[in-house]
Amino acid sequence: MHHELADVIEFDDELATLVADMVATMYAAEGVGLAANQVGVDLKVFVFDCPDADQQRITGVVCNPVLRLPNGADRQLDVADEGCLSLPGAFTECGRPDHSWVTGFDHLGEPVAFEGTGLLARCLQHETDHLFGTVFGDRVPEKARKKLYKLHKQVADEYQDDWPVGEEVD
Ligand code: ZN
Repeated sequence: MHHELADVIEFDDELATLVADMVATMYAAEGVGLAANQVGVDLKVFVFDCPDADQQRITGVVCNPVLRLPNGADRQLDVADEGCLSLPGAFTECGRPDHSWVTGFDHLGEPVAFEGTGLLARCLQHETDHLFGTVFGDRVPEKARKKLYKLHKQVADEYQDDWPVGEEVD
């Protein structure tokens, strides 16, 4: 989970199948986002279905994302509990800018752009991080990180080894 994934170059049927599988896995695991390395694929692509600050559900597919965050006076940190499908059962507070923008391409190679507020601001940052080899535990203080991994360990037995991949998708 700690290396940068490869750029998507071919927007082909194989990519479309991967994206469909990822969406199914995300819903089965009740996540709001999923990155390709979480299902063992080395490609810069993530999917999401996440509410924004207006409780509007925004869904999307982003390949080769470029993330933009607010600067200077516009930069406000939102500190809230964060979790990850690759670390089921464990949550910890993580401060992140409360606004984010992502541009990239969908699975057909068409340009896409999303503006994130509320939970979506966090989700777009979390998923883009995955594709560049950062997990959210890397972004919290060491003490919180230790607690996070301990929490996960306590419940890890409840999840199969390849979670969230092996979750029933029907
Ligand atoms: Zn995650």
